[in-house]
Amino acid sequence: MTTIFSDISELYTPFERIEDPALVVEDGQITWLGAQRDLPPEFSGFTPVSLGKRGVLPGFVDSHTHLVWAGSRLDEYLQRARGESYEAILEAGGGIYNTVHATQRAGEDALFELAGMRAATFQEGGVSTLEVKSGYGLELEDELKMLRVIQRLDAALPQRFVATLLAHVIPKGWERTAYLEMFCAELIPEVKRAGLAEAVDVFCDRGAFTLAETEQIFTAALDHGLAIKAHAEQIEHTGATQLVARMGGLSADHLEQSRADDWQALAAAGAVATLLPGATVILRKPFPDARTMQAAGVKIAVATDHNPGSSPLYSMVLAMQLATALGGLSVEDALIAGTAHAADALGRPTLGRLAVGSPADFVVVQQERALAPFYSWGNHQIDSLYVAGKKHRQPDL
Ligand SMILES: [Zn+2]
Repeated sequence: MTTIFSDISELYTPFERIEDPALVVEDGQITWLGAQRDLPPEFSGFTPVSLGKRGVLPGFVDSHTHLVWAGSRLDEYLQRARGESYEAILEAGGGIYNTVHATQRAGEDALFELAGMRAATFQEGGVSTLEVKSGYGLELEDELKMLRVIQRLDAALPQRFVATLLAHVIPKGWERTAYLEMFCAELIPEVKRAGLAEAVDVFCDRGAFTLAETEQIFTAALDHGLAIKAHAEQIEHTGATQLVARMGGLSADHLEQSRADDWQALAAAGAVATLLPGATVILRKPFPDARTMQAAGVKIAVATDHNPGSSPLYSMVLAMQLATALGGLSVEDALIAGTAHAADALGRPTLGRLAVGSPADFVVVQQERALAPFYSWGNHQIDSLYVAGKKHRQPDL
């Protein structure tokens, strides 16, 4: 099936801006893109779909979320707002463990429904692809349950979902080496066998996994043909970024405590630096100097890190706006960070861009100027989201 989209005021690929473009989509994929006046004559017989002289952007790619969770951490949010630290709350047995208990108790259907409602909010905000991590199950069966929920989201909703197995923390009642053994020798092979995730992420930080343990988990992941990435240099500098670079990982995420030598390693390896402004703002931490990082040759992505504790953020537009306001990225570069570079961080380099051969995932903004959403804080200015050339409709859950 062929559809031609016309009456577009301007479009960002996101690497370049095209004025008055037309977009030809066949079976969900872009087969032609250029100025409307250059549309090849073979398409002149088609009745185009008018986008009403509005601006178009690639569908946003949220490359780091923890979308599947149960319970609420509102009380912890209130505690932190009164001045208690995230680390102190975690050490006192709250924080992540709170969500773990609620997620372990919740059934698969309940988790699916909760995550589906959150995904609908992301849809209104123009997000066409979401990476979602496990990591609140901790026990083998509960981790598999979370990953099955992500698989169901991908099958039931029009958005694309990319699942990642997350080594988050050592569960209560487990001895460290026994848990690592279970994770590497049972959980990773089972996830691979069942096709439940594409990558393994490790939370390498104080209170979570050490650098040596991270390397052990990465080795098991690579042995099973899964990609690797890390929560790196968030609370403490651990060296996880350089480990990601050395072992061929997709991305190092957070990087609040990262240094120039970490950036050089990422740039040399071609790995993506994923910045998560929601967590830095909400935890009141300093945001990495994204502009200097970019000048060092690092490919920068921006994501929401949506999670119930440190970043209950539902808006990719806001994440990209914050990357400009706090990290010094230009608006055009923030858009690239939330689309094409984010897709690269997922190992899905055809997503997050409008180009021949890419899926027709795009956002129609409410204004003629396609960058209007970045100028309009707290008001998304998004008209609609198309995934694979189809207008995204609210699913019945
Ligand atoms: Zn995270």
